[in-house]
Amino acid sequence: MLKQGSVQFDIQNKRKRTPLLEAVSQGHLGMTHLLIALGADINAVDGEGNSCLHLAMATEMFNSEDAPLDLLNECCTSLNLKIEERLSGIVVARYLASQGADFHHKNNKNNTPLDLIKDPNLRKKLEAFLPPQCLLCRNKEATTKVHPCEHLLTCEECSNVALKRCLRCLKPVTSRGRVESPKFEEKGVQTLAETVDEFKIRELN
Ligand SMILES: [Zn+2]
Ligand SMILES: [Zn+2]
Repeated sequence: MLKQGSVQFDIQNKRKRTPLLEAVSQGHLGMTHLLIALGADINAVDGEGNSCLHLAMATEMFNSEDAPLDLLNECCTSLNLKIEERLSGIVVARYLASQGADFHHKNNKNNTPLDLIKDPNLRKKLEAFLPPQCLLCRNKEATTKVHPCEHLLTCEECSNVALKRCLRCLKPVTSRGRVESPKFEEKGVQTLAETVDEFKIRELN
């Protein structure tokens, strides 16, 4: 079906899950990887407000299904986990975050994907890699900087709230500016683009 090029990536089933969300919840890493590569929305949410990260956290182990594992190996090492755990939900979640999935998104029960991690040490390790959260709404990624201290404080929606002083260091604010493409881990993104072609050709031919 993907080869025909007629698949609608935003189509939803009765739980309001897109093909990507369904692939993640069923632990299909190869299909997850392919759908992301072909442009599926990585921040789609289901009827319960769960993103692919919530669903990855709830999946114990993924099936690799021929997906390139270099990125997962990197994510696994960066979390200090054993190589046997590279297909675990938490490593896959870290990989999804490196491709732009938002770790600050709350589901309908008001839980972020991080809230679903039971091990506090693992949670801390994962948190260290995440882009900062908006200090006003605490619900989105911070994309606006204040000058002159250069602290990254608010999301786009909160960026029109007038600030006299920086919410972090309390220095007076002279102006604010959006940080261009706050995507973290450029390296990871490039690796995906490189490995995807090879994978797509292998999968679709
Ligand atoms: Zn905000
Ligand atoms: Zn500051």
